[in-house]
Amino acid sequence: MRAVDINERSPWQDITEGNKIYEAATSRNFCTGEWRTSTPEFDREKCKQCLLCVPVCPDSSIPVKNGARDEFDYDHCKGCGICAKVCPFGAITMREGK
Ligand code: SF4
Ligand code: SF4
Repeated sequence: MRAVDINERSPWQDITEGNKIYEAATSRNFCTGEWRTSTPEFDREKCKQCLLCVPVCPDSSIPVKNGARDEFDYDHCKGCGICAKVCPFGAITMREGK
């Protein structure tokens, strides 16, 4: 099955039976962060780069570059708030809305 551009209308021939997913990692092709109703915000001044927030994110939306966490991947973050709960330094706060 080919990757689908969300702005493109999918012909019925491209829709799998029962909308089953046959390939891994296809979620990267979709901006599922659009479902979000609350949004994590990251305070770089408070962050101690302990990286505790990274493995708990169910959507792998906290990228790490050169051993340090980077800005959220808002294309895929669904706003569950787990990262804000685990941060021991209060560096993540949840804001209502996208
Ligand atoms: S709010 Fe949830 S989905 Fe978004 S970055 Fe935090 S843990 Fe990940
Ligand atoms: S848990 Fe908090 S302090 Fe640790 S890396 Fe994440 S935002 Fe920074």
